[in-house]
Amino acid sequence: MSKMSDGVFPFQIGNFECIAINDGTFVYTGESFFINAPKKRMDQVLREHNIQSGEITTPWPSLFINTGKHKVLVDTGAGAGTVPSAGKLLEKLKNEGIEVKDIDTVILTHGHPDHIGGTLDTRGKPAFPNARYVMLKDEWDFWMSEPNFMHLKLGDELKQFILMSARKNLPPIQEQLVLIDHETEILPGIVAIAAPGHTPGHMALAISSGGEQLLHISDTVLYPIHMEQPDWYPAFDFAPEQASVTKHKLLNRAAAEKVMVFAFHFPFPCLGYVIEKGKAWQWQPI
Ligand SMILES: [Zn+2]
Repeated sequence: MSKMSDGVFPFQIGNFECIAINDGTFVYTGESFFINAPKKRMDQVLREHNIQSGEITTPWPSLFINTGKHKVLVDTGAGAGTVPSAGKLLEKLKNEGIEVKDIDTVILTHGHPDHIGGTLDTRGKPAFPNARYVMLKDEWDFWMSEPNFMHLKLGDELKQFILMSARKNLPPIQEQLVLIDHETEILPGIVAIAAPGHTPGHMALAISSGGEQLLHISDTVLYPIHMEQPDWYPAFDFAPEQASVTKHKLLNRAAAEKVMVFAFHFPFPCLGYVIEKGKAWQWQPI
């Protein structure tokens, strides 16, 4: 039996059977999540959210979707050997009776290490041998070029790690790769939405079945505080102004359509609703 405390949370979107499966957790500094926030105000807001240490622990969850016809995995976690607190995805899939060979579609929302780290197995071969891997073309092109993100206020070691992770994990999937353009239906009921800013080809997804919809916003926002303080952005955002446009578009849509949202780094199981509040929003976890 899966329990939410194990980081495994089954739920239903219409006829689609979904499972949020947490690859593990990671601790980020408040500064990296809110790089432009005034320090005093940030500390105060963190305390209001019961975060005393100034550090934010977030999950790294994949979303498994069984549409009835297709078995789909959205993002692959950090992979084995990255950090001791993660790399649990494959074991948890197995516990749920899901074999890697049964996954026919792997959707990568963007090329950051916590989303593509489990793309390969320990031999460096695609971990999901029968899957087509799907990414937005802009994202693939970005990482396959000479990406310059030296303007980001992240440590040099971390920037190097992000770059090396993409260089290692992405090229070996090329033969199984399908690159798509904006607003493409990947499978019946699963539509890609270009959500640029966090990275150049960052992708959100509208997942619909039986009159119900789930909006997977991946890293459009990293923490509920990014909804309440809409001007604060993380150091990881490649193009903060573009990210802000994307954020307004997606969160306004989620609030207007009252659809359930999956937000990758939010407290597990990362599911909830977005409510408009003045010129900002508020997160209502399920
Ligand atoms: Zn992320």
